[in-house]
Amino acid sequence: MIAEKLSKTIRDVPDFPKPGIMFKDITPVLAHPELSLEVSKAFYDYWSPKGVEAVVGIESRGFIYGLQLAQQLGVPFIPVRKAGKLPFTTVKHSYDLEYGSAEIEIHTDAVSEGQKVLIHDDLLATGGTAKAACELIEKIGGEVVGYSFLVELAFLKGAEKLEGKDVHSLVSF
Ligand code: AMP
Repeated sequence: MIAEKLSKTIRDVPDFPKPGIMFKDITPVLAHPELSLEVSKAFYDYWSPKGVEAVVGIESRGFIYGLQLAQQLGVPFIPVRKAGKLPFTTVKHSYDLEYGSAEIEIHTDAVSEGQKVLIHDDLLATGGTAKAACELIEKIGGEVVGYSFLVELAFLKGAEKLEGKDVHSLVSF
């Protein structure tokens, strides 16, 4: 099972980037091409029947499998980035993180009115980042149809913040 393989491969790094945070490091997954391919396939298998019209990836680890998934689905990939990184006109949203706070942006022309968008990131913790990405997409006229993660930290109950939308993760801790 992919969940079992992932839970054995993802590395726990204690006290990063702050004391008390157990960081889930996915770089050992990226270093295993066969497992990494399985991850891409699992995302594709889950989302291919769901009518996704664009994939939004959240900087920066959301770009890794997010772009692959968009390419496999044959839909546009859209980056959401930390404030000040995107060159064209943007909209911005501020939110709280498991550690600290942040501001993210999206290009104003990134989606068309009513376009069905999937949000992808490496990890769901409190759900603040994914929720902020949803606010951005809705501000520019898109419709969020679901959320995709490699890892969910279920004890933080982030999925509750994502209000009845389709929330999918490959492994839960
Ligand atoms: P949140 O907004 O609390 O759901 O946090 C999710 C974002 O922060 C994602 O972009 C993750 O990459 C990162 N993140 C939060 N907590 C962790 C953690 N324990 N290990 C790895 N990444 C994390």
